[in-house]
Amino acid sequence: MNKKVISMVLAGSMLLSMSSGMAENSFANPGTYSATAMGRNGEVTVTATFSDSAITGIEVTHEETPTLGDTAIEQLTAVVLKNQTLDVDAISGATLSSGAFMEALEDCVEQAGGDVGALKAVPVENAAAQTEYDVTEADIIIVGAGGAGLTAAKTAADAGASVILIEKSGVVGGNSLCSQMGINAAASKVQETLGMEYATEDLLKEAQMQWGGRENLVNAYVENSGKAVDWFAENLGIDFSGKTGDQVDPADPLASVGEDHPSGSELFMVRADADGYTSNTLVKALNTAIVGAGVKLYVNTEATELITDENGAVIGVKAKAADGSEVTFSGKAVLLATGGFGQNHEMVVAYRPDLKNAITDEMAPTTGDGVMMAEAVGAKTVDMAEMQLFPHVPVGDTWLSPMGMPGGFMTTGLFLNQDAQRYTTEGFDSSIEGTLAQEHAFVIFGESDLNDDLKRLEARGLVKSGDTAEELAAQLGLDGAALAETIEKWNADCDAGADSQFERLPFTLKKVEGKLYGYAFGVGAHYMMGGVLINEKTQVLDQEENVIPGLYAAGEVTGGFHGSKRVDGSGTGDAFVFGYLAGNEIAAEIAGN
Ligand SMILES: Cc1cc2nc3c(=O)[nH]c(=O)nc-3n(C[C@H](O)[C@H](O)[C@H](O)COP(=O)(O)OP(=O)(O)OC[C@H]3O[C@@H](n4cnc5c(N)ncnc54)[C@H](O)[C@@H]3O)c2cc1C
Repeated sequence: MNKKVISMVLAGSMLLSMSSGMAENSFANPGTYSATAMGRNGEVTVTATFSDSAITGIEVTHEETPTLGDTAIEQLTAVVLKNQTLDVDAISGATLSSGAFMEALEDCVEQAGGDVGALKAVPVENAAAQTEYDVTEADIIIVGAGGAGLTAAKTAADAGASVILIEKSGVVGGNSLCSQMGINAAASKVQETLGMEYATEDLLKEAQMQWGGRENLVNAYVENSGKAVDWFAENLGIDFSGKTGDQVDPADPLASVGEDHPSGSELFMVRADADGYTSNTLVKALNTAIVGAGVKLYVNTEATELITDENGAVIGVKAKAADGSEVTFSGKAVLLATGGFGQNHEMVVAYRPDLKNAITDEMAPTTGDGVMMAEAVGAKTVDMAEMQLFPHVPVGDTWLSPMGMPGGFMTTGLFLNQDAQRYTTEGFDSSIEGTLAQEHAFVIFGESDLNDDLKRLEARGLVKSGDTAEELAAQLGLDGAALAETIEKWNADCDAGADSQFERLPFTLKKVEGKLYGYAFGVGAHYMMGGVLINEKTQVLDQEENVIPGLYAAGEVTGGFHGSKRVDGSGTGDAFVFGYLAGNEIAAEIAGN
């Protein structure tokens, strides 16, 4: 049998669009490594090339059969490179070839100093372009395979409904892949087992309602949150024992609920992973579970329009396939689970003109499609101007965890304007107004604050450096003399032990020295509290707040639950709890008919 060589490299555009926040992919020993494993017909040798943050190229030499084995390895190579994951299912019918490829690749990852476990935690199921649609009719058509859509798909399928799930991008998960917090829940068995004895319905309800959430939606959430968490534990085997120890003083349980970082929310928050990324864990489990439940998933399929009958009832969805052709899905009900609209700058500014300089840290292509499709059939929207902002998003990137900022959450870097002058106290929320007043701002820091996240941004050319202020300024397009003066003044303040311009706390007074680094950043439109108005059964309402037959919505696409503020853990909860509720409600409604 002849040897076959498959060789692929990571496309430059993919490298640019890869985010540092989704998975901690880092390789301590960048370079090229080879490993061999036995396939069906013989040896499969993988030669993989690594930068410090990505698998950039894979070459495979093998003797597998030219049809299945060869095709399988080719597909797997593309999926691994595109998604930077090792969580790749063996291609059916070519399990030995697939297994050998993955075994050898994992060996290469280890040689490169990568974390196989972390790469396996990056979920992806079907990243191939979707071109064939063998099933276009089902009881329920779900639009958007993030946390809400996946949960609804599984619960509805379990309840006996046939489900088609369409997803615009090549991977499932949406922004639900990157949420770090857990799920706010009340009265679950999970919490009882964990000894979260203060997890009361009243507490959760109060936390949500103080920001103006609609009572019927808050009640629906509270009533279903515990059930949803228990369902995840019992049905999908999710281990929620990753609770952190950040419990508020039980004697004063409401004191801190609703603060910017409400430690009180830990009273009712459950986590599926001690390191965070609860929703990533749930997406991964759901992604596998929906296959077993018979859900038909079409990726690379973008819903464009809702189809109604002569009475205005929603009976289907028009969508665009990867090749641009139109495909029509028909169902007894349609669920919109399309997430927020941070990626649609025009829409953000239409509701919030003050955010004209904002960018976003939403990672999925969440462009408000669900809101627009629902409005086109008469749906009411509420709280559209209520958006949660994230104060520090690197220009050209999406999500940089607060802990990834230079010096961490209470940054030790300097926030500068285009004149290389400080314009604010470099606090988390306190800097938002000043940053929004300019096209974008710059953060400058010294070499001791160059953490791993920032190194990844440096590797992508976003973080610039210089041995002197003038050198760095030239990289950033700033005036060198002005930057030198600003740094000198700041360092003198640090020596004197007081911020002479603004109100930096003493422990953040750290000199900017050694090799100098900096990058442009902006304020991110992070979370949309507003959206399509639903009732407590997740049915979409019209302008008079009557039900639009056949149309449902769940997750960030909806409005009315949060009011003017998202409490930590209720964004994730919004997706997974209302997704759970929607799946059950729609299946019951269909069965009732
Ligand atoms: C960086 C970041 C960190 C976060 N951290 C937290 C946190 O710590 N705690 C918290 O509570 N919340 C957090 N959130 C918010 C939370 O992650 C989201 O609100 C939640 O995951 C939304 O879930 P969803 O299912 O509604 O939407 P998503 O998970 O965004 O899924 C929507 C899906 O719909 C798809 N879609 C969109 N339009 C179409 C279309 N026309 N056709 C087909 N598919 C379409 C999208 O591609 C996407 O896959 C964070 C968000 C971000 C961006």
